Amino acid sequence: MSSRLAPANAMLTDRATRPPVPTRKDVRTYKGFGVSPGIAIGRAVIIERREASVFRVPIREEDVSSEVNRFLESLEKTREELLELKQKVSRSMGDEYASIFEAHAMIVRDPSFTDKVIQKIESEQVNAEWALAEVQEELQARFQSFDDEYLRERVADVKDVADRVQTNLQGIAHHELSEITHDVIILADDLTPSDTIHFNRRPVIGFATEAGGRTSHTSIIAKSLFMPAVIGVPRLTKMIDNDEMVIVDGYEGTLIVNPTQAMIAEYQSRVLRHEEAERRLLENRAEPAVTKDNHRIALQANIELVEELKDAIRFGAEGIGLYRSEFLYISKSPLLPTEEEHFQLYRSLAEATAPHECVIRTFDLGGRKLAREVIGSKEDNPVLGLRGLRLCMKHVDMFKTQLRALLRASVFGNLKIMFPLVSGVQELRQVKTLVREIRRELDEQGIAHNPNLKIGIMIEVPSAAMIADILAEESDFFSIGTNDLIQYSLAIDRSNENVSYLYEPLHPALLRLIKGVIDAGKHAGIPVSMCGEMASDPLYAVVLLGLGLEIFSMNPSSIPVIKNIVRSARYRDCRRIAELALLKKTAQEIEEFVIESVATRFPEGLISKAI
Ligand code: PEP
Ligand code: MG
Repeated sequence: MSSRLAPANAMLTDRATRPPVPTRKDVRTYKGFGVSPGIAIGRAVIIERREASVFRVPIREEDVSSEVNRFLESLEKTREELLELKQKVSRSMGDEYASIFEAHAMIVRDPSFTDKVIQKIESEQVNAEWALAEVQEELQARFQSFDDEYLRERVADVKDVADRVQTNLQGIAHHELSEITHDVIILADDLTPSDTIHFNRRPVIGFATEAGGRTSHTSIIAKSLFMPAVIGVPRLTKMIDNDEMVIVDGYEGTLIVNPTQAMIAEYQSRVLRHEEAERRLLENRAEPAVTKDNHRIALQANIELVEELKDAIRFGAEGIGLYRSEFLYISKSPLLPTEEEHFQLYRSLAEATAPHECVIRTFDLGGRKLAREVIGSKEDNPVLGLRGLRLCMKHVDMFKTQLRALLRASVFGNLKIMFPLVSGVQELRQVKTLVREIRRELDEQGIAHNPNLKIGIMIEVPSAAMIADILAEESDFFSIGTNDLIQYSLAIDRSNENVSYLYEPLHPALLRLIKGVIDAGKHAGIPVSMCGEMASDPLYAVVLLGLGLEIFSMNPSSIPVIKNIVRSARYRDCRRIAELALLKKTAQEIEEFVIESVATRFPEGLISKAI
């Protein structure tokens, strides 16, 4: 799906805005995975993908001009919609997010697009829909063949705009979610991270999907937005009707359809209980994350959106352990962020976080992540394809813009940079050579940068974990990205619900890899953190503490829970638990063992995952 509220090929069904006709009244419960805690109660809105069929219809000569007019009207309508959207998004989310719609509105006025359609209608005497579809195809093929990478990558925008014009042409009403005045729960087969970002306000209060994985970026974004979400519910869009009342229980991973009044009341009181528990947990905000036997841990925040900075501070983060800079690209798409935009953002993050560190990860696009929206790439095996550092080095101009800005911002606060998806030393050397080149350029231009800027890498590819000792000689720090490390070492797509049962952070292979990385970092004297989701799970945190992890970075709202764990644990006990866990043979054996150990060693018991 594309990155706007109601893209032409993923429209709200007509039923979403017509008087609803739910066909069933019975209470039903569906099970999935809770990926973003919280409870949302609202009416279902189903998002369906739909490619409109376009037929070639010959038209009479005397009808040609009215056909052209019809096309011009649809262009105008599309432009108005886009500008209106731009304003709405600008008001609710800022100019950064709104610029995509402005760029799209410019495409609608571009004669190299519009004149071609008109010519086709006139010369071939065909219907506007057909002419548009033909020109769209030609344009997409032309863009794809450009030498200029940036132009080549704009195919997705051409498609987005042309789809929208096509929708208007066909007289299909274009509905926006904001037209709905009551709270809604979005139900979809799948949602991209950019779709999810756009759900950042009323009326959307929660969502559920058929596809997805616990550590998919859609799930991560849902958590960042505090939006209750359940994923992996089979055939969801077939089982639930538009406008049926739905409860999304993001704690338990359930959807309750047509709940009774008593059930709604019970869930409402659960919301209050959770809020109260959260308030209590936040009381530890100013306390240090230190174990009972004085072992000091740092708890940092992962953020994707600048707006999360306030959450990081509110939940007591000691710095930003991961800023996923790719979300800056998606928010600007189809435009690329300028060097100045990068710089201003990184400077403000670094200053707001100082004296704590602020780790900016260079863009990790590709794979399933925003690739189509931003770089237009389509690969058979995207997760094993051009993503992370590989993609940065391929799009070196785009990358240099970011690196220059990072180096310029490095004189503010305590900024560090980190590269994603490093798989070997050669890649690290290449990127460090590029950084040196940019440093020289900046020196020549008399632009300040920090000569001692720390450069670290994510350890998220098994090969990197296995040679962590070698990589440690050339890196200033490591951050273990378990979301990908698990995906790649256990050979399971982190976004694929069919294999999510194999997503086992306590798999012995994983624990050995993690231990190896932590030990290698300690041996080389460099800090090792973890910014994968594993670090935010109370049970896993006990094991990670025991393996010697000292910096945990996570979604801000998880910090108080993990701090509680740290403060009620004894490091000595955790070490023993980890040692014994490493002797077990399966993830299940390890989990049972850890639960049992925790139950006996933690006086208050382990705080449940759902708080
Ligand atoms: C990871 O892979 O664990 C990680 C933190 O990076 P991302 O989730 O953005 O891939
Ligand atoms: Mg990763």
